[in-house]
Amino acid sequence: MSIFQNEFSWSPSRQRMFESCKRQYYFNYYGSWGGWEQDADAQAQLLYRLKKMTTMPQLIGTVVHEAIRQVLKALQMGRGVSPSAVETYAQNLFDQHLRDSEQQRWRRTPSRYTNLFEHYYGESFSAADQMQAVNRIATSLQTFFASDAYAMLQSVLPEHYLSIEELADFALGKTKIWVVLDVAIRYGKSVFVFDWKTGRERPSDRHQLAVYALYATSQWGIALSDLHLRDVYLQTNTASSVHLSPDDLAQTRTFVAESIEKMRALLDDPDQNTASQDAFPMTTHTHLCTTCPFKAACYPHTTPTPREEPIQLSLF
Ligand code: SF4
Repeated sequence: MSIFQNEFSWSPSRQRMFESCKRQYYFNYYGSWGGWEQDADAQAQLLYRLKKMTTMPQLIGTVVHEAIRQVLKALQMGRGVSPSAVETYAQNLFDQHLRDSEQQRWRRTPSRYTNLFEHYYGESFSAADQMQAVNRIATSLQTFFASDAYAMLQSVLPEHYLSIEELADFALGKTKIWVVLDVAIRYGKSVFVFDWKTGRERPSDRHQLAVYALYATSQWGIALSDLHLRDVYLQTNTASSVHLSPDDLAQTRTFVAESIEKMRALLDDPDQNTASQDAFPMTTHTHLCTTCPFKAACYPHTTPTPREEPIQLSLF
């Protein structure tokens, strides 16, 4: 029995998963709950392990975000950074994640060590693929260092940094809304929020920034006209600014409230936040299953997985 309470909350990533596949959403937020406990049932332990899995594109994003976070923390402390040293740091970090996954260190602590989808499911991952991933990381960081955003961030006083990749929350009605702003700064009377993207542009990117606007206007009391939201696409070296009107902000509030209602409608008991798997159907868009971490749970007889060994789970 977990000592933690599974409280209902909302985030942009949760909404995307709910719309993508209800079963995946159930596995991620309910079925895997408590799976870190040594006395959890085998299904919860399996789902927790699968929930913690990462795909190669996600790993590239994680490494790039972590490297940029370190750069911004250094700037905030008034220290200069060497782009080549940051690139080396990112490459070493990527290599460490790969080693952890190859050595299956996640078997003991799934929350701490990388379990790469491509390793777990025995998908081919050649030296050329690895080199391509390393190049994508290097390209992303080079784009970052050459960006207008970086030039602006370098010119900001340390005390004008408002947030660097901090998990934060605000309330909408009775629901806690989670956000992670890659970086937010004060710049004159304005606030700038930047979101780094290592993948392709998606329509949901704009929604995500709109939710960040709800947080920024409530947290920092900033007028909407003084808030500047920008996605920076590090692979394509493009940036996309989002300008929101008060109507857009109201629509975002409605969008989140309706999304919360849809999620709660499938629960057994919305007040206790309890759920049953049968209420969350598998997607009919089966092409999504090929890259889904939970395919070992949905298709156990057709999905190759690593040989099972006794494991001792720990949360930290
Ligand atoms: S394998 Fe397919 S049906 Fe199962 S959780 Fe993943 S996306 Fe949904």
